[in-house]
Amino acid sequence: MQPFEYIRAADVRHAVAAAAADPAAAFLAGGTTQVDLMKDGVLGPEVLIDITRLPLRGVAVGGGLVRVGALTTMEELAADPVVAERLTVVRESLLLAASPQLRNMATIGGNLLQRTRCRYYRDLSCACNKRAPGSGCDALDGHHRMHAILGTTEHCIATHASDLAVALVALDAVVHVRGAAGERAVPLTGFYRMPDDTPNVENALELGELITSVEVPLLPVGARSGYLKVRDRASYEFALAAAGVALVITDGVIRDARVALGGLATVPWRSRAAEDVLRGAPATPETCAAAAEAALRGASARPGNAFKVELGKRTVVRALSMVAGLPG
Ligand code: FAD
Ligand code: SF4
Repeated sequence: MQPFEYIRAADVRHAVAAAAADPAAAFLAGGTTQVDLMKDGVLGPEVLIDITRLPLRGVAVGGGLVRVGALTTMEELAADPVVAERLTVVRESLLLAASPQLRNMATIGGNLLQRTRCRYYRDLSCACNKRAPGSGCDALDGHHRMHAILGTTEHCIATHASDLAVALVALDAVVHVRGAAGERAVPLTGFYRMPDDTPNVENALELGELITSVEVPLLPVGARSGYLKVRDRASYEFALAAAGVALVITDGVIRDARVALGGLATVPWRSRAAEDVLRGAPATPETCAAAAEAALRGASARPGNAFKVELGKRTVVRALSMVAGLPG
């Protein structure tokens, strides 16, 4: 591991000032991504700013929102009674991720900023535009079974790894950040950057900006939601395909719908096309199938991950059917 200076931030202002002063600084929350990647030599910050003592932990409910402090752990958010009752998709996305030990360390802010699991990104001997801009992408003609089929470019086809981000994108969550220039709020749907020709730029954060909280609008009473994750083994594994969905159904008609995909795209993928199919349609297996077709339209696969197109459709159908109470 490259040597680094360790700073324990005394307060939010101190954390932000230290990070803004040094492009080679990084924040340390639960450390389950950051420390791993430092040990592997993928990340090499010269200054590590420990934010774990900052007062950014807790879940508060009010005004139709759940406000989640950035240092709340994944396990704490999953255990919140309002989240369990009104935001099932969030709870399920958390409990299907990682392991209990990791979820007790890992924070919500860190989860949203975790890095891709692309094996070439983590292997310093490989070409990777995300790790070393301009070096190429060994995944394109390599082993890309786990890689993305939506939102890809010739520069990067890595999937975004966060399950929680998929649920939060579906729910129109908003990220609150603090930087040297003050505070701002960024809708999560606009937070992540698709790879384009700069896959190393992954999100909208400016130098030194700290995520302080995430606001999640509550679903209406009576809405149903859920998260389906398809993976190679039943626990402790990342998604091959996942779908976070929320539906409001009255008299057999879908009045409102949210659909987001994980494991299939370079960013947590909100599918407005699927939602347009669902809204106003009868809650039937045929509607679910049509929505799945819309969700995967435009997918661009490579030989090793072509199976994901059909898998993605089936995942969407199964998730919608599960939430709508249909056979499927
Ligand atoms: P850190 O490791 O401390 O930080 C991660 C990144 O975010 C760093 O770059 C850090 O500088 C930055 N950061 C942290 N907090 C802030 C903040 N408040 N503001 C600005 N920057 C910040 N995730 C899933 O979603 N699904 C899975 O199935 C899954 N499985 C996993 C399995 C394993 C074996 C491991 C090791 C991880 C897995 N994860 C999974 C990822 C895990 O959820 C993340 O590593 C974790 O959520 C990161 O949170 P952390 O607090 O440890 O962040
Ligand atoms: Fe790097 Fe992206 Fe290519 Fe993986 S897919 S090697 S992260 S550029």
